[in-house]
Amino acid sequence: MSNEYDLIVIGGGSGGIASARRAAEYGANVLVIEQGRLGGTCVNVGCVPKKVMWHAAEISQTLDAAASYGFAISKPEHDWRGLFQRREAYIERLNGIYARNLDNSGVDHITGKASIVDSHTVKVCDVHYTAPHLLIAVGGEPVLPPVAGAEHGVDSDGFFAWEARPQRVAVVGSGYIAVELAGVLQGLGSEVDLFARYGSVLRSLDEMLQTRVIEALDEHGVNVRLNSPIDSVAKHDGDISLTLGDGSVTGPYDALIWAIGRRPLTSELGLDSAGVELDERGYVKVDKYQQTNVEGVYAVGDVTGHVELTPVAIAAGRRLCDRIFGGIDGRHLDYENIPTVVFSHPPIGTVGLTESAAREQYGDAVKTYTSSFVSLYYGVNDHKGRSHMKLVTVGEEERVVGVHMIGEGCDEMLQGFAVAVKMGARKQDLDDTVAIHPTGAEELVTMR
Ligand code: FAD
Ligand code: NDP
Repeated sequence: MSNEYDLIVIGGGSGGIASARRAAEYGANVLVIEQGRLGGTCVNVGCVPKKVMWHAAEISQTLDAAASYGFAISKPEHDWRGLFQRREAYIERLNGIYARNLDNSGVDHITGKASIVDSHTVKVCDVHYTAPHLLIAVGGEPVLPPVAGAEHGVDSDGFFAWEARPQRVAVVGSGYIAVELAGVLQGLGSEVDLFARYGSVLRSLDEMLQTRVIEALDEHGVNVRLNSPIDSVAKHDGDISLTLGDGSVTGPYDALIWAIGRRPLTSELGLDSAGVELDERGYVKVDKYQQTNVEGVYAVGDVTGHVELTPVAIAAGRRLCDRIFGGIDGRHLDYENIPTVVFSHPPIGTVGLTESAAREQYGDAVKTYTSSFVSLYYGVNDHKGRSHMKLVTVGEEERVVGVHMIGEGCDEMLQGFAVAVKMGARKQDLDDTVAIHPTGAEELVTMR
């Protein structure tokens, strides 16, 4: 293995691996350096294990509905440890697939913690590697708050290491991870209190989704405690208690999860040796071409702090390599209208502008359409889960600038509608599309 490359990628996660393989397709000689397991956050402690757990919680709900559909079954105990072992075995297989994919693409990869020596040189265990192009794709890590006793809780990485399900759980936070993990645990039999420090959850989403997801969490059994910042944590004889901002004490809990955000892994990378600028929160500053302030040094994915999603890291990295190694001038990722799903129960799908953002931008030119219905799935059930949808349109032509929905199947429904939004679809285009019946998705083309 020579130590001179065309491209060195630091970080073998979603963005790093996709970029390395795309560059190699164009004939570049590429090295990926990964300190942990290939696949990064998404594969090892993110999207993949999370989605497995979400499916488990959904299956639990299906078992609850089974009697209404004529299956006279009693619900079996959930085997958390068995699922944990199968999930981890699956992830190990994925780690192997990622390694083989890199090999098949002709990309060299080594295990170790990289530090930057200068803009063309990276060091791993005192061995130097050089390249004219350096890609920073180191992602981030979860944060704990600076409150007394915070160490009695775990972060999302800690959650994925659990081999047994705690019964009484406090989840603190109000973003994607808090909502998703609270839903999974409650769905699998825990009693969950979810603590949001302000008056809502998922505050960057459309207001309708915020209201409806709180209702859905509540219906799911999660005890949502709004306006409840945590002041301190105590643990006695295995019981965790929380002191809230108003001085009240709550608990006991068997476990506490902090899900209050993530920070970029830039502090020990040596970026200052290359003169790479960070923003005040430690994210690598890049322009729309993923270019840092230093020539030949780029960054993609969570480390840039722009829309922290796996497909975004992948898309940004591939486009960057199309430009640098494929000669496609000007190629870059458009960060507008990125669709996203929150795997709550039921799931949320959302793309484009929230109603309030649209009104701020377009004022009275905004018109919305909404629908709220009980899907046919619940027709024969005692439990009646509702779906809620909203289209945000702009101008006389009623261009659709936002699609927001929560309900059965909304996770799988969104992708196609995101294409329509990206293409500039008008409300009339949706109306002109014949509905598929009976589905939940048909509501999106029949709203009046
Ligand atoms: P990462 O995937 O984090 O990869 C960075 C890699 O760099 C890591 O493997 C790290 O070990 C390595 N590294 C760091 N420093 C060094 C160093 N000095 N030397 C060598 N290697 C280094 N996104 C979705 O789109 N859908 C989801 O459903 C979803 N669910 C999620 C659930 C959870 C619980 C979490 C935490 C995240 C989830 N995400 C989801 C977000 C998604 O995981 C990230 O956006 C994505 O992994 C970012 O990719 P990346 O390449 O930027 O970073
Ligand atoms: P998020 O940034 O989504 O949410 C964290 C939230 O926690 C903040 O927005 C804030 O909300 C709240 N918070 C911050 N500090 C505190 C505090 N001290 N006490 C209480 N609450 C606090 O981060 P996550 O960690 O949930 O997820 C990180 C990112 O990973 C997501 O933004 C998303 O991009 C990605 N992800 C994607 C998923 C998917 O695609 N399905 C799933 C999981 C993660 P507020 O200001 O309202 O208090």
